[in-house]
Amino acid sequence: MIRARVDIDEPFYLEKCVACGGIWFDKGERRKIIEGNFTEHLKDLWSRSWQSKQRKEQSRTRFLEINEEVLGKEVFQAIIELAEQLKQHPEKGRAIALLQQEIS
Ligand SMILES: [Zn+2]
Repeated sequence: MIRARVDIDEPFYLEKCVACGGIWFDKGERRKIIEGNFTEHLKDLWSRSWQSKQRKEQSRTRFLEINEEVLGKEVFQAIIELAEQLKQHPEKGRAIALLQQEIS
C-alpha cells in the first residue's frame, strides 16, 4: 500500500495497492473525495508534481484571501485589476515606480 495525502480542510490519507492499483477508501472518504472535487484527479493524488502544483495553488489562494481581508475588497480588487493590466506591459517597472512615488 502507498499512501497519498488528500489536502482538504481536514486532510486524510488514501491507500493504493501497489500490485493492482486498487484504492482503499475508509468510511466517509469517498464522499470527501467527491465533495472536494478530486474525482477526476484520483490518480493524480499519487503524483508528486500534481501534489506540489496543488499546494502552490492553495497557498496562492490563501495569500489572496488574507490580503483581500486586510486591504478591503475595493483596494484589493483595484490592485488585482492593475496587476492584470501590467503583467504584459513592457514598462511595468516604470508603472511600479510611479505608483510608489504617488503613494509616498
Ligand atoms: Zn491489489
